[in-house]
Amino acid sequence: MEKNNPFEIAQKQLYTCAKVLNLEDDVVRMLENPMQQVQVSIPVKMDNGTTKVFQGFRIIYNNVLGPAKGGIRFHPEETIDTVRALAAWMTWKCALLDVPLGGGKGGIICNTKELSEGELERLSRSYIDCVWQFIGPDVDVPAPDVYTTPQIMAWMMDEYSKLSGKNQFGVLTGKPLNVGGSAGRGDATAMGGMYTIREAAKEVGMDLSKAKIAIQGFGNAGSFAAKLSQELFGATVVAVSDSKGGVYNPDGLDIAEVLKHKKETKSVINAPNTETITNTQVLELDVDIIIAAALENAITKDNAGNIKATILAELANGPTTPEADEILYKNGIHVIPDFLCNAGGVTASYFEMVQNTYMYYWTAEEVYARLDQKMTKAYHEVLYASKNHNVTMRMGAYTVAVTRVVDAMKTRGWV
Ligand code: NAD
Repeated sequence: MEKNNPFEIAQKQLYTCAKVLNLEDDVVRMLENPMQQVQVSIPVKMDNGTTKVFQGFRIIYNNVLGPAKGGIRFHPEETIDTVRALAAWMTWKCALLDVPLGGGKGGIICNTKELSEGELERLSRSYIDCVWQFIGPDVDVPAPDVYTTPQIMAWMMDEYSKLSGKNQFGVLTGKPLNVGGSAGRGDATAMGGMYTIREAAKEVGMDLSKAKIAIQGFGNAGSFAAKLSQELFGATVVAVSDSKGGVYNPDGLDIAEVLKHKKETKSVINAPNTETITNTQVLELDVDIIIAAALENAITKDNAGNIKATILAELANGPTTPEADEILYKNGIHVIPDFLCNAGGVTASYFEMVQNTYMYYWTAEEVYARLDQKMTKAYHEVLYASKNHNVTMRMGAYTVAVTRVVDAMKTRGWV
């Protein structure tokens, strides 16, 4: 396996948790690998008349608590091990938030920036043609992830509905509002992260209205996090970054301006009144909070020691390697671990599934209130477990989640 392989990291975290909880070997054997892995070759008619074949994946990691749930990522460097790791983290995330769902994930190796709108639609539909027998509202329910959008979810839901001969709004979440989407789903990941940051600030004694924040990643999770940090807390966002680099203004960025600039130029670089910095510099700024909202392995043993922030909020999945985790713990940095911090997305997705089943839709205020309740409860369960077991916040989260999954496996007679 390559260095910092996300699945190797996910397994390592599980083995550490197994030691803390003193889990039996047969239980660990059942949890260390996915229950089901599907790999498909996806043919797509390209605009120039040729057919291109893409590789795609859909994995159910564990479904003891309910139908699998997890996004579909479109990325040129997607690997099956990334999908396996993300599916494992989805399992722990759903268990931690106490929603009746298992963990899954999917992905396609592709570069969306090189595809026309028509090619993207045909790729999305063709993926469903390949995996539709392995998903379903009570089997495995995908959602958006990196470089997949509500529009892509709508095409996929439509394709699945056609194949199964009836409307199946509940087969995917993160859909547009006019075809079974939920109010509040768009910014739910960031909003959920904000609730955990609010609770963490109380724990470390930080006044959020005076806090300086730097954010790595300016997509769905990161850009909403920037906007909400200002709106909800009155905090100052001094830096944001995307795949091309970062922008910095010590007096605070005008997030609406940066968003406009990103929309027009496809990057945050050179947004008005900003200085350009690197993605590494963003993480090492003298700020109170770092929000990691890009991809895996952003914080490694090479840069963890340079982090000056008091709180690290992991909106991205897997941004910190295990070696980096130890350094952050020793340096007293309060980490809000990924599958707690970014669980707002799946929790709102669960609410979307409930609304699709009932065919009755909630207001955004109702969604946020229920989301706040779930996120706040989970944060305090993790904090309590980390103190109780004398382990990192990440390991605290693992102990809560893995215990729920193991208890259900025992009740169902699996182990
Ligand atoms: P997105 O595609 O909307 O945005 C990703 C952002 O990261 C883009 O701004 C991109 O430019 C930036 N990026 C890519 N490589 C980078 C790099 N090397 N350095 C800095 N920035 C880089 O994706 P998203 O939905 O915002 O997801 C971001 C992270 O949050 C992922 O880890 C994802 O799994 C996680 N997440 C997202 C959701 C959700 O609901 N969107 C839910 C849970 C977790």
